[in-house]
Amino acid sequence: MVAENEEAMFGALKSDLGKSAFEGWAGETYLIAGELKHARKHLASWMRPKRVRTPLLAQPGVSKVYAEPLGVVLNIAPWNYPIQLALAPLIGAIAAGNSVVLKPSEVAPACSALLARLLPRYLDPECVAVIEGGVPETTRLLEQRFDHIFYTGNGTVGRIVMEAAARHLTPVTLELGGKSPCIVDEDVDLEVAARRIVWGKFFNAGQTCIAPDYVLCHASREAQLIEQMKKVLIEFYGEDPKASPDYGRIINERHHARLSKLIASGELAAGGQSDPTDKYIAPTVLRKVDPASPVMADEIFGPILPVLTVPDLDAAITFINARDKPLALYLFSRNAEHVERVLQRTSSGGACVNDVMAHLIPHELPFGGVGASGMGAYHGHASFETFTHKKSVMAKATFLDPSIRYPPYTPGKTKWAKRLA
Ligand code: NAD
Repeated sequence: MVAENEEAMFGALKSDLGKSAFEGWAGETYLIAGELKHARKHLASWMRPKRVRTPLLAQPGVSKVYAEPLGVVLNIAPWNYPIQLALAPLIGAIAAGNSVVLKPSEVAPACSALLARLLPRYLDPECVAVIEGGVPETTRLLEQRFDHIFYTGNGTVGRIVMEAAARHLTPVTLELGGKSPCIVDEDVDLEVAARRIVWGKFFNAGQTCIAPDYVLCHASREAQLIEQMKKVLIEFYGEDPKASPDYGRIINERHHARLSKLIASGELAAGGQSDPTDKYIAPTVLRKVDPASPVMADEIFGPILPVLTVPDLDAAITFINARDKPLALYLFSRNAEHVERVLQRTSSGGACVNDVMAHLIPHELPFGGVGASGMGAYHGHASFETFTHKKSVMAKATFLDPSIRYPPYTPGKTKWAKRLA
């Protein structure tokens, strides 16, 4: 389906998000194809019952863990990577033997309609159903009993989903967001750091759950970092990013208006232009940002990058630990001790050293949040595990049936039982 309809997918992504074909490939179809290939390659081994050790007391017997499908999975997807975030969980759910009800995001209508049209042509509609719609439809869906709910989106709706799931004791995976910090240390390759941060922040016009939300820069490096970022912005998108075919648009007027207000939260170092008629916001870098300003209150989820300064690494760690646990944490540093200190003393869904967003690529790195950024994880084997019940099975032989565990519990039997245990 993905191979035969890639152009149609790129068209829908362009229409919903102004997404370039490259970003459509790199952030959506390439990731889905990789996930699929990996699952098909490893599925037989993931499915095989796994034998574990059986203690002497339980002998003679064999202990195994069976992977059992959960049943019917509800997958509620968001709008920012509307194809990838609908299909990647679907791959794991089907691989684990479940049937799925997929609810794409109504906020990306072209992609939602495309998925609703394509999926029944390629997958058995008895096993995979697509239900389009917004809040009323999702509310109705959440009234039903499912065996697992996989939700990707914001934490407010995450709470609604979890409450609805609790009514049926349905387990949930919540893939949420938050403010993912990016530390730039004193000892750093600034050229590479600037390039990678700018790429990750302005990919999909900043509408990425694991985009670096803000930078915590060592005070001595701030001026150089900003200079480098300004240079990189021109290299990437030219003098007028609005004219660049590689730069996306904001999903809708509501988000455009929300983001436009955040630009005033600091001193403009780059960008700042906004055009509601085109849902355009220039790649914007802010400096001298007060941590109490609106841009630092919630996840930005758009092309605005506040650069805050810190006197040293410990101040950066304290700043991060005073806030919700982020979905991703980024650190640019050449100092191995500093890297280890940050990884050991902070908690985040995932982390990446000297790059951003790259931890999404290895199939065997589970992807998910912690605390306010979510619960549960998926991708590769983690997806299979998420959508599987592990059934513990102990199969005993009958040729030996010592009376040691049966009453009457004599002192002799007790002594032997304790010795074998
Ligand atoms: P969204 O508005 O598309 O909402 C997500 C889904 O929830 C949609 O399918 C929508 O129909 C449904 N929904 C919305 N309101 C609802 C309600 N009241 N009741 C029931 N269902 C409802 O997407 P969004 O929430 O704006 O997505 C952006 C957020 O998602 C950001 O916070 C981002 O960080 C996060 N996100 C996380 C990941 C991840 O993998 N962890 C990926 C992408 C986005």
